[in-house]
This record gives sequence, structure tokens and C-alpha cells, in this order.
Amino acid sequence: QWIYLDGQFVTKENAKVSVFDHGFLYGDGIFEGIRIYNGNIFKCKEHLDRLYDSAKSIMLNIPLTYQEMEEALVETLRRNELRDGYIRLVVSRGPGNLGLDPNRCPKASVVIIVEQLAIYSEEAYKTGLKTVSVSTKRNLPDALNPKIKSLNYLNNILVKIQSNLSGAGEAIMLNAQGYVTEGSGDNIFIIKNGMITTPPCYLGALDGITRQAIIAICSNKGYKIKEEPFTLHDVYVADEVFLTGTAAEVIAVREVDGRIIGEGHAGPVTLKLLEEFRSIVDKDGLK
Ligand code: PLP
Repeated sequence: QWIYLDGQFVTKENAKVSVFDHGFLYGDGIFEGIRIYNGNIFKCKEHLDRLYDSAKSIMLNIPLTYQEMEEALVETLRRNELRDGYIRLVVSRGPGNLGLDPNRCPKASVVIIVEQLAIYSEEAYKTGLKTVSVSTKRNLPDALNPKIKSLNYLNNILVKIQSNLSGAGEAIMLNAQGYVTEGSGDNIFIIKNGMITTPPCYLGALDGITRQAIIAICSNKGYKIKEEPFTLHDVYVADEVFLTGTAAEVIAVREVDGRIIGEGHAGPVTLKLLEEFRSIVDKDGLK
């Protein structure tokens, strides 16, 4: 496994960053998770747009141009001879001193890791996930602004701990006003009487690239879809609930806080959307 580290390709054992890197000391940095399907970097532009926007927002100077970053991704895949898998692209503030001041970090660090990935079994896509709602709140401002895909994932980790303790595979996060926002690392959709609804991002959700792809598929294929706030009640009484994310793709939820959703397994619309999604994944992106 070859890892891209600041312009060099190094082995896993040698892929090390400084303990003075502010990504390590303060979670000061950003990242993207990207899928590779049949040699295609799925939605590469969308991921790089989000990365460069996150960087601009936190005044992080990425030491590669957009085109150089694309080339680095392609070269990392080539060296690893990987045609299907997952890319983790991390840009941290880089090494500085123990103070907070990012001006003391002269150069950001860029890391690209590619790996095989299979987070859920094919079976799980049929049975659906057991989930719980958690008390940790989303929609926090500034650094935890969900629009910035920052290395500050402590909130999401607390959510994961809480869902683990409840014996659930995933969690549903609300914002401070009680509206449903997203999962620990996935966006959420509910379906009721043929209407598909996902929370608007301003409530406190990452504008997921899979989320956008599903919205586009729904519009193109004539499914009724809207972005509108909803509460846990609407989730409990939905006909179908599913989550979307780069790693998870489109996965059904069969249970939320002990309430069985629909028939208690993946519903027909969710499965159809998964099929539609999988039919575009190796076409839409950087070949
Ligand atoms: N929400 C959060 C908090 C995430 O970390 C992710 C994963 O990146 C998502 C949603 C899903 O976004 P995407 O579809 O771009 O992977």
C-alpha cells in the first residue's frame, strides 16, 4: 500500500506526520472520503470543490492546485493498482508550534490513503440498520459548521459511542431545536406516501455528495422529493427511512428507537434508489 504524503509515495509504516502538526494537536484540518468505482473517481469534482471550499472557509492554504490534486489522486490509485475502493484525502494545517496560531504553521500537509472498503454486507442492504436517536446535538456554528468537512469529528465520535452503547449500527442526530439533521456520517431521507424528504442542510447537516446524487436521481426519474425540516415523529411513522454516504451508498433503516420502520426491512423505493445509484457510480466522475 502506497500512501501519498506531501508529494512523496511512502509505505504504510513510513506514513508519519509530525506530532507538532496542528491536525494532530487541534484537529485543525479538513478531509474528504471519496469512492473509486471501476477506476472512476466518483464525483471527483464535487469532492474537490467541497475540499477547497472547506479550506477557504478556515483559511487553510492547500499547497496543491486543483489540477495537481486531481493528478495526485490519480497517481495514488495507479501506484496502488486499485480500481474499486475508498480514498481518504486529508489536508491538515501542518507542523507548527504548541500555540494555536496557524501563522506558525508554514505549510499544510496533504495525505492521500486508498483502501479497499466494504462497510456493510450485501445482506445489510436488504435487512436495513437498527438506529437510535442521540442526545449529542448537530448544527454547531463556526468550526463545527457542518458545511466544513473538518477534522473536528469529536461530536460525531460521541454520537458513535452513544449508538454503540445502545447496540445500534447508526445514530440519528437532531439539532438544538429538535429537528432531525443526519446520521454520524451519513445523510438521512424519509419516505411517506410516496414523498421523499431530506432535511435542508441549514438545519445542521453536511451537504453530502451522495445526498446530492440521490436528489438528482429522484428529479431525473420522477420521484417526488423535497428538502424540508422534520422531527423524530416523522421518522418513526415513515414508510421507509434510508441513509446516504460515500461509504454506505444508500442503506435502509429498519428500526429507530425501537420503532419498526415500514415492514422492518429495506423498502421498495430505497432498494430502487440503491439500484439507480449503483448504475451511475462508475460513469460519473474522473476516469
Ligand atoms: N454527514 C457527515 C457528518 C459525514 O461525515 C458524511 C460523510 O462524508 C456524510 C454526511 C455523507 O456525505 P457524502 O455523501 O459526501 O459522503
